[in-house]
Amino acid sequence: MTLALFQMCIDGQWVDALDGATFESLDPSTATPWALLPDAGEADVERAVQAAQHAFDNPAWRGLTATARGKLLRRLGDLISENKEALAQLESRDNGKLIRETRGQVTYLPEFFHYTAGLADKLEGGTLPLDKPDLFAYTVHEALGVVAAIIPWNSPLYLTAIKLAPALAAGNTIVIKPSEHASATVLELARLALQAGIPPGVVNVVTGDGPRAGAALTRHPLVRKIAFTGGAATARHVVRGSAENFARLSLELGGKSPNIIFADADLDSAINGAVAGIYAASGQSCVAGSRLLVQEEIYETFVTRLIERAQRIRIGSPQDEASEMGPMATAQQLAVVERLVAEAVAQGATLRMGGKRADTGSDGWYYEPTLFECDSQSLAIMQQEVFGPVAAVIPFKDEAHALALANDSQLGLAAGIWTRDLGRAHRLARDIRSGIIWVNTYRAVSAMAPIGGFKNSGYGRESGIDSVLAYTELKTVWINLSQAPMPDPFVMR
Ligand code: NAP
Repeated sequence: MTLALFQMCIDGQWVDALDGATFESLDPSTATPWALLPDAGEADVERAVQAAQHAFDNPAWRGLTATARGKLLRRLGDLISENKEALAQLESRDNGKLIRETRGQVTYLPEFFHYTAGLADKLEGGTLPLDKPDLFAYTVHEALGVVAAIIPWNSPLYLTAIKLAPALAAGNTIVIKPSEHASATVLELARLALQAGIPPGVVNVVTGDGPRAGAALTRHPLVRKIAFTGGAATARHVVRGSAENFARLSLELGGKSPNIIFADADLDSAINGAVAGIYAASGQSCVAGSRLLVQEEIYETFVTRLIERAQRIRIGSPQDEASEMGPMATAQQLAVVERLVAEAVAQGATLRMGGKRADTGSDGWYYEPTLFECDSQSLAIMQQEVFGPVAAVIPFKDEAHALALANDSQLGLAAGIWTRDLGRAHRLARDIRSGIIWVNTYRAVSAMAPIGGFKNSGYGRESGIDSVLAYTELKTVWINLSQAPMPDPFVMR
């Protein structure tokens, strides 16, 4: 089969790796190669960062007003809209996400650019009411310089958009390193950025291996901020890399999010919410509701109905409009799921459903929707992120018990609460230590809503009104208003 050929985008040019190295990207639905991409090394990363620094210093970008930058972002959003079907098909092909899901994500994607475009010229500094009568001071938000964005494979377009849009709105330039397993749509985004009129070198994409290209990028001395989404082990490398240069960091890491179902909940909705939380995207979602906490009175009914619904999930090709669950995106991730399921069985968790590869008649990396019943939160399957279609369910007695279970985790990205009791919903929203709380809904996103985690789920927030500020430095400017000579130089003013 002929492979689709891709090049990297450096300084507005489409280039191969300097040493000509390439790697194959596999189609998760068939486990066969479908694309060939440049395998960037340190020299390619150097080229990309230098191009980004040059573009940052160039008046073609630096000289633009914030309003002009906002207009370019708006144009980029429009171009994404015009190309949405092609982008949705490409992402589905590349990482095995369902076409019905990539279509939904790409249709919404322009909102991140349009919303952020509007923020570009609203980064107002302040005038300071100083306690020094002869001095005047004001603050200015300025761009940081070169930003490195490290993107995982599960939602490359979305996770790039929430970094790229605010970084550019604030006037930075960027080098993006998508996952070697899903780079195609990020390259297309760079193409659209050029088409929108964003100057060459402002948006660069290097493709290749994380420990090589990613590591070279994150420790580069010209990189002023690293926006990272991925796993905790990689994040520790990134944090160490950033220490070389004291680069600013945002870390969007994983979760083991509780989805809490009370006896008074609308059960139909809660079951849909539980399915959306863990089986949508085959569980390859940082906000997956992988810990199901269910009140004792409805526990057996809930579990029976959840299994009944999950067993009707149509597993199949991500490009088939009728499919409800596609494959795992990588063979490595499938192996992780298989290992963690085997460990859960060995530790005594009760397998109520699934627990094996799904037979679809293809060599793709499909896995059955899986449910473990647990009588203790100390089991690894209750604590460790699987990043696959594997839920663990545990009963709880009352609100206090549910809260204790919910907070009994090193992770704190998201939580779902299903109840008709308004007071209880607000109490738990206040007391659960997570960055996102969904009440009677799950997996909702908006350009206006910040996302990010508590505890080991990372730090920093993306999306929302403050997202652009996270890509700026605050400068304080002092003006001497007095006509008198500068007073005693050995005394602080
Ligand atoms: P990962 O292995 O940590 O990879 C993330 C990115 O880091 C990839 O681009 C990877 O490149 C790169 N990378 C690997 N080693 C590196 C190194 N030494 N230095 C710099 N970069 C390096 O994570 P993943 O398996 O792709 O994604 C799954 C994880 O991401 C899960 O834990 C999930 O919860 C988390 N996630 C979080 C969010 C959120 O918003 N909180 C969203 C999505 C996913 P290669 O892939 O090319 O090796």
